[in-house]
Amino acid sequence: MTDTDTSDANPFADLLDANRTFAQTFTLSGFDGIAHAGIALVTCMDSRIDPLGMLGLKPGDAKIFRNPGGRVTEAALEALVLGVHLLNVDRILVVPHTRCAMSSSTLEEVRAKVGASAGQDASWQTFSMVTDQESALRDDVHKVHAHPLIPDSVKIGGFVYDVDSGLLNQVV
Ligand SMILES: [Zn+2]
Repeated sequence: MTDTDTSDANPFADLLDANRTFAQTFTLSGFDGIAHAGIALVTCMDSRIDPLGMLGLKPGDAKIFRNPGGRVTEAALEALVLGVHLLNVDRILVVPHTRCAMSSSTLEEVRAKVGASAGQDASWQTFSMVTDQESALRDDVHKVHAHPLIPDSVKIGGFVYDVDSGLLNQVV
């Protein structure tokens, strides 16, 4: 789309405007893609989480992988292996959070809500619900530890982020 295209309003126009403003003071040009603070973070997609801010980090410091629930999935492990071997990562944090929809609802409830919103059957859709957040977190941290391509020298921690206080509680 261009500025002269008036056939349809671009539903992203507000964001592109904001981006042009952002680019006017952009200072990260030519910056490399490594994790300058050596941090990789797996956390939830939840909009209440500011992954860099909550750790006192800034752009360039960390590799961040997000998904519903902040789970260590196969894709998360792929990201962590790349982070450790190619992107300077030596500390990994796995950070689910309080009041997460993925651990406060059942699979049936989420499928019913999505089905109602979509106006069609959603019972076939996978949703990786968590029944016991702390034990899921311990399992997830273990998955990272147990990965053959993640060396023992990498420090791995499991934390629960409190979306009401902003505090991290280290579980493992
Ligand atoms: Zn969540």
